[in-house]
Amino acid sequence: MPKSRSAEFALIDRYFSNLGVEDESVVHGVGDDCALVSPPPGKALSISIDTVVEGVHFPPGIKARHVASRALGSALSDLAASGASASHFTLALTLPDNDLVWLDDFASGLADMAEEYGVRLIGGDTCRGPLSVTIQVHGWVDKDSFVSRGGAQVGHGVYVSGYLGDAGAGLRLCMQGVTGQEGAPEAYLLGRFFKPSPRLMLGQVLSGRVSACIDLSDGLVADAQHIADHSEVALSINVDLLPVSTALKTLFPGRALELAASSGDDYELLFVCAEQDARQIETLMGNTVELTRIGDVQEGRGLTCLCGGKPIKFESGGYQHFV
Ligand code: ADP
Ligand code: MG
Repeated sequence: MPKSRSAEFALIDRYFSNLGVEDESVVHGVGDDCALVSPPPGKALSISIDTVVEGVHFPPGIKARHVASRALGSALSDLAASGASASHFTLALTLPDNDLVWLDDFASGLADMAEEYGVRLIGGDTCRGPLSVTIQVHGWVDKDSFVSRGGAQVGHGVYVSGYLGDAGAGLRLCMQGVTGQEGAPEAYLLGRFFKPSPRLMLGQVLSGRVSACIDLSDGLVADAQHIADHSEVALSINVDLLPVSTALKTLFPGRALELAASSGDDYELLFVCAEQDARQIETLMGNTVELTRIGDVQEGRGLTCLCGGKPIKFESGGYQHFV
């Protein structure tokens, strides 16, 4: 970390003063005590904050650009789940030292991700300490079409985007020191852990068409339970229907469904809607993302997972920080 305040400002200026895509709602960005944002008419601000800590959310020593893409990707995924568009974000960075090679890679990874998803960095904080990255994302949503995790209706289907279990498998490969040649299944799974694909387009299509939605950060079992609890209904999920990638099946043949059900960090969307709305969502999304019906909503409470027609329990109830 910089030894003086002026070195700190130089660092902010060099790496963070012009990062991401300019946004017309941003009246004033990095450099002042506050940033100034002017909301588009009729929109409400959707806000979410996430922290990633070295050794807790990612293994020590992973590339700085992967720390950046995980931090921004997971934060943007919350906006996707709320049906919001993504507009801008702030960044609180705690660094153990002033490692310019690390910062170059971090800032360039962050800029790539910010450009891919059309968001602008508008402020933050920089200090010294154990490596952690906190990102607060801001987006816009129509006031009456905010998507919540608490509205799931009995009779609706439960759907999921993309493939499940890939990121959990990628984390396991990363912990084993596997790197993976380009194009190899290992590289695909590692990529799914290092660089989430927040489903922002899908989230906006879901808005107004679904009764509930959540993004999968802790894992399907844990996050489906949140929908059941918040909506006060019962969710029944058929584990045999979980969408799994060829790479996952190839590299973890005996464990693909278990990883799909219980491992975290996939940042896919789990949503609940009527069958005809699901068909419309599918049409609107074209072939851009896989959508799979994996269960339904029933009277009652809690989550039931079925495998081969029989109830099955998974160990992971999501990552617990305080036990
Ligand atoms: P203050 O002391 O008024 O809180 P700082 O000295 O912490 O301001 O930061 C100066 C400016 O740089 C502010 O506009 C702040 O938002 C911005 N900033 C600081 N750190 C970061 C960062 N990591 N990313 C983006 N902007 C940052
Ligand atoms: Mg100030």
